[in-house]
Amino acid sequence: MNLILMGLPGAGKGTQADKINSKYNIPHISTGDMFRLAIKEGTELGKKAKEYMDQGELVPDEVTIGIVKERLSKDDCNNGFLLDGFPRTIAQAEALQELLSELGQSIDHVIHVDVPEEKLVERLTGRRICPTCGSAYHVIFNPPKEVGVCDKDGAQLIQRDDDKAETVKTRLSVNVEQTQPLLDFYDAKGYLVKVNGDQEIDEVFQDIQGFLDK
Ligand code: ADP
Ligand code: ADP
Repeated sequence: MNLILMGLPGAGKGTQADKINSKYNIPHISTGDMFRLAIKEGTELGKKAKEYMDQGELVPDEVTIGIVKERLSKDDCNNGFLLDGFPRTIAQAEALQELLSELGQSIDHVIHVDVPEEKLVERLTGRRICPTCGSAYHVIFNPPKEVGVCDKDGAQLIQRDDDKAETVKTRLSVNVEQTQPLLDFYDAKGYLVKVNGDQEIDEVFQDIQGFLDK
């Protein structure tokens, strides 16, 4: 099953991706997570990505497409993949079509997790992540068992630099402009399915499962 999760920052893509990954056992590929790991490891890729990410801007297409190509060619993607945060531009979407057709594959579904924009500032500024495993929590909506500590590995949770209130606004406006053309692109191909992301986390997942198990 080859899936793409779409939605604005904070819509719950990463949260749902973890659940899809556990149930359907396909790798969760998040370009944001890949960039954050590269920054943490201090690689060349990380240095390049950081300049853009700290401003809430998109990393250039050539860099992003390059890392996704490399990742999708790994063996664990043979039975499918779940892309989260990619593609973010039409150029990326076209590059993905080309790559998949070279591999003799195609996209099965593009799941749009739809949440009204005005709800997202609160979700993003309250998000805390685990620097070790990438899990996302929310101070109010999805708190860990012990305040500030990851349930899975006990690491101290942190706030992403780009989840501070100043950057959140830029990220949202950049994304609103860029998401619509992508939704249109996939809708025209008949891949798009919209899920109401403005419900409890488990309710959103039930809707996704209902669709995938059909
Ligand atoms: P994305 O990957 O789309 O940016 P996340 O999955 O990281 O989004 O979720 C953003 C924030 O909102 C996190 O703090 C997460 O715990 C919280 N969250 C995710 N889904 C929901 C939901 N359905 N209701 C309320 N909060 C949610
Ligand atoms: P969210 O969905 O919560 O905004 P991500 O973790 O997907 O966050 O992305 C964080 C940042 O990483 C983005 O603001 C952008 O700078 C960079 N990034 C992630 N994916 C892409 C992509 N496909 N193209 C360009 N930049 C990306």
